[in-house]
Amino acid sequence: MVGNRQPEVNIGLVGHVDHGKTTLVQALSGSWTDQHSEEMKRGISIRLGYADATFRHCDGLDEPECYTVEEECPDGSESEPLRTVSFVDAPGHETLMATMLSGASLMDGAVLVVSANEPVPQPQTEEHLMALDIIGIDNIVIAQNKVDLVDAETARNNYDQIKEFVAGTVAEDAPIVPVSAGQEVNLDLLIQAIEEEIPTPDRDPDADPRMHVARSFDINKPGTSAKDLAGGVLGGSLVAGELEVGDEIEIRPGREVEEGGQTEYVPIETTIRSLQAGGETVDTVTPGGLLGVGTGLDPSLTKGDALAGRMAGPPGTLPPTWNEFTMEVDLLERVVGADQGETVDEISTGEPLMMTVGTATTVGSVTSAREGECEVRLKRPVAAEPGTKIAINRRIGARWRLIGLGTLTD
Ligand code: GDP
Ligand code: MG
Repeated sequence: MVGNRQPEVNIGLVGHVDHGKTTLVQALSGSWTDQHSEEMKRGISIRLGYADATFRHCDGLDEPECYTVEEECPDGSESEPLRTVSFVDAPGHETLMATMLSGASLMDGAVLVVSANEPVPQPQTEEHLMALDIIGIDNIVIAQNKVDLVDAETARNNYDQIKEFVAGTVAEDAPIVPVSAGQEVNLDLLIQAIEEEIPTPDRDPDADPRMHVARSFDINKPGTSAKDLAGGVLGGSLVAGELEVGDEIEIRPGREVEEGGQTEYVPIETTIRSLQAGGETVDTVTPGGLLGVGTGLDPSLTKGDALAGRMAGPPGTLPPTWNEFTMEVDLLERVVGADQGETVDEISTGEPLMMTVGTATTVGSVTSAREGECEVRLKRPVAAEPGTKIAINRRIGARWRLIGLGTLTD
């Protein structure tokens, strides 16, 4: 399964529930993202399943047959590794939209999985495409899945429906590759499309390292004696720079401290004691894939995702912490995923909003709403650069629904 190469690009798997995202990841990576044995991985896959796949090439074969994930080519020779990618398998259920969006901020591209045997679009097909649009992910491949279940005419109709559905969106020019994840048909074509459409981003190794902390945990078994305790673990993704064992890091906004009835957030500093990437223990990591950072922190600080949604990097280099901010607002025309596509009303002063800022999800209340802009006070602060994109959700009925895109101004 996991090769010994660190993944260099994160690819989201998005689309409606049961359309075959997890099956496709499994077919490409040989690992089932819904179940990981290792503690560090299990921690993160509950909300975001990561699975690494090494795309390989068989010399002497034409496209697309030359693309494979097998180590052995049809003629018995060994295939050449091209690159290792990390799939982020977003949950398909709409109530987990916030999770999908926090994963989206880590995605360099996406595969939108659309089932060939259902009318297009299904609610989360639309909702997830909108989210890609909002986050600005435009390296997209569409996998028209389950073609084994339909006849040629149905497949063609479905293809036309997909084309019509993506017209005018960020996926307008995305290749549509008919596949069967279940029967492993056309995976070579899909790999070729991913190789062409979702390149590894250029990275500056000298940039200040930035890690989005998506999970945090305590890996010690209950009853471990104090002297044997392993330090707290952070799970997430590096989006810039390099991290090395021994590096000092700061975590912001840090930990919650109660003082005189007031809740404050205090940045934390610690040392990196160990690193895990691509399923292995390593000395240095670069962006791409899931990263586990063993720290010198008291594990009680990292237990139960206590530090999820934080940012980590060299002390003194992290973006500011915001308790309140102003954002420019771009509202959608209608509520995505809702039954009748109801229109989105203007944001009003006093209303609660749920916002996904990077990997942090936080609730805030609107203290001032103006045309195209609003000020919000957050329940929990976030660390973010001005210009960060924010997914804005409003409570509609029993659920938070995506209503627009914010841009943090100040
Ligand atoms: P997800 O919710 O999008 O992750 O969907 P899953 O990967 O869990 O798949 C949902 C169901 O569809 C499972 O029962 C799969 O076995 C089935 N499935 C997935 N891909 C295919 C396919 O290409 N052909 C057929 N016939 N069934 C598939
Ligand atoms: Mg799934």
